[in-house]
Amino acid sequence: MSIENGQFIIAGPCAAESREQILTSARFMKERGVPVLRASLWKPRTNPGFDGVGEEGIPWITDAAKLGIAMATEVLLPEQAERVAQSVLVDAKAEELILWIGSRNQNHLNQQGIARAVNDRRVKLMIKNQPWSDISHWEGIVNHVIQAGFPKERVILCHRGFCPNGSPNPLGLRNIPDWEMAARLKEATKLPMIIDPSHIGGTVNNVFATTREALRWNFDGFITEVHPNPTQALTDKNQQLNFEQFDRWLNMVRNTVKI
Ligand code: PEP
Ligand code: MN
Repeated sequence: MSIENGQFIIAGPCAAESREQILTSARFMKERGVPVLRASLWKPRTNPGFDGVGEEGIPWITDAAKLGIAMATEVLLPEQAERVAQSVLVDAKAEELILWIGSRNQNHLNQQGIARAVNDRRVKLMIKNQPWSDISHWEGIVNHVIQAGFPKERVILCHRGFCPNGSPNPLGLRNIPDWEMAARLKEATKLPMIIDPSHIGGTVNNVFATTREALRWNFDGFITEVHPNPTQALTDKNQQLNFEQFDRWLNMVRNTVKI
């Protein structure tokens, strides 16, 4: 899996909801040459609600990996990271696994514990920015995982915007991107920077608009939410693309010539 062509794509449902949803999504993405399927088993929530299927979904993403697509999922605790890695790398014999530390997972003991639990050459750790705008905190997460012994070569950054917190938001975005900051952190760390247009946009139209904006910068790819039936999604239904919308989105991204 190469993250160097500027159009590295991770796509799939916000949350894993059923085995069928995961396998349908895995086949769809594989047919289109999308290298990585996303699906969260554990969902940190701002307010109480569906917080993921948890352990029950580990066999689903393991079966998806057996179809020959790399998996990406969020982990909040070291033991979750360990169980996912055990299943996907050992049972499915996957060659690649991306685990991400989410924006609400701001406990450095867990960040370091996760880094130690999955220090395997097949695992990449993706670090989403924290909810509030502060480059040093974001970079601090990178420093924590590296200090825990995780090699920098296997760290990826992800910008999902910062919580609006009353700041001007004329486009009605869910989270406010700071492209300049993301570019600066990419340059300072020399790490790949993936953009999450779904959590920045918050709506299907905004996902397209945000992606167009991001394509003007020299970032490394996208993580985009796609659901076989977004109207029935248990989380983030307004921002998940359906399959037809994703095909249009993918065409747009692939047909953009990077300069
Ligand atoms: C997600 O990727 O599904 C997610 C919860 O994102 P964030 O942590 O960026 O809100
Ligand atoms: Mn989501």
